[in-house]
Amino acid sequence: MKTNLLDEFEDLRTNSVTSLSKAKENGKKVAGMYCLYSPSEIILAAGAIPIPLCGTRQDPIAVAEKVLPRNLCPLIKSSYGFAASGTCPYFNFSDILIAETTCDGKKKMYELLSQYKPLHLLQLPQKQDGEEALRYWLGEVNQMKERLEREFAVTITDQDLRNAIRLVNEERRSLKDLLDVGKLKPSPLSGMDLLMVIYNRGFCTDKKEVVQIVDRLTSELHELYKRGVTPFNIKTPRILLTGVPVGIGSHKVVQIIEECGGNVVCFESCGAYKAVYEHVNEDQEPLLAIAEKYLRTPCSCMSPNASRFELIEKLADEFNVDGIMDLTWQGCHTYNIESYSLKNYLQEKKRRPFLQIETDYSESDIEQLKVRIEAFLEMIS
Ligand code: SF4
Ligand code: SF4
Repeated sequence: MKTNLLDEFEDLRTNSVTSLSKAKENGKKVAGMYCLYSPSEIILAAGAIPIPLCGTRQDPIAVAEKVLPRNLCPLIKSSYGFAASGTCPYFNFSDILIAETTCDGKKKMYELLSQYKPLHLLQLPQKQDGEEALRYWLGEVNQMKERLEREFAVTITDQDLRNAIRLVNEERRSLKDLLDVGKLKPSPLSGMDLLMVIYNRGFCTDKKEVVQIVDRLTSELHELYKRGVTPFNIKTPRILLTGVPVGIGSHKVVQIIEECGGNVVCFESCGAYKAVYEHVNEDQEPLLAIAEKYLRTPCSCMSPNASRFELIEKLADEFNVDGIMDLTWQGCHTYNIESYSLKNYLQEKKRRPFLQIETDYSESDIEQLKVRIEAFLEMIS
């Protein structure tokens, strides 16, 4: 259901280019990030602006394929293509890139990316539990802090980190409240509108402003629900979407689900629940608290990655979903392989209907996807 506030979110991304340009003129530094493992708190504590750089569009992929293999994940090709073609204003504004050793494709792509901008690489452990992994990761997080101090000629104090932790936790709280609107039955918001909001809000340079506007949208949506205003009905199949990161430009599966009569009520992916289901502990030593929280991110590049399965199961109950769709990009081995285990886990536990979709950013398979998604929605209706 459209509210006027959605138009504000539509404009947010365009307006953020102007505010970033002004901020740069006033001497502000910008750090571009590609992953949920990159702690934005440290960038904020350095007085800089964190900005997401993950490529979600098909257009720059042709440029990337002049260098990168064609059978690579489209997210990696799109991200590299934006940098190589110079067409992403956010990349151009970035003074430094914060990268991380998650999947093989990404970490090798970063080696090439470092020719365009200064790049700091966080070396991520491959497991999440145990003192050793945490100690190692804390060292990496500390090195990122020291690198930003050097690059931006600043000193990051514990108080700077505490302030940034509070700010980002508040941002998480407001986004979670918005995502929880999907628990209402029927939801007053389409998955496409929700995705647009989640995606565009990431580009806002003023965290306090974004919290306010997200909170306003959440309360408007609750009002709409009370008045019975919704594009859906009680029988609309409710879908939880998990898997790879998705944004505007790579939204085709979300769009098809809703065009075929479903409603994506819950996004478990990186820009959404994965990012907000847990806060950084405000009562702990700040750098350690940041390291602990980020290391627990339930991504398929970790082995094992049991906490992702548990999170999906919990969300499926809380959002009262009728089916779970696992989106994997072609060439993403970690999510593709993990999909098999996820399917078995969900079927053993609750026998929830499950569909894996493997695709890329192109439009070539839209008709084929429609047939599969339509059949799935019919089966769970
Ligand atoms: S899916 Fe994993 S590697 Fe990709 S952005 Fe999320 S946390 Fe990072
Ligand atoms: S979607 Fe998969 S292959 Fe692509 S960047 Fe993320 S983890 Fe790597």
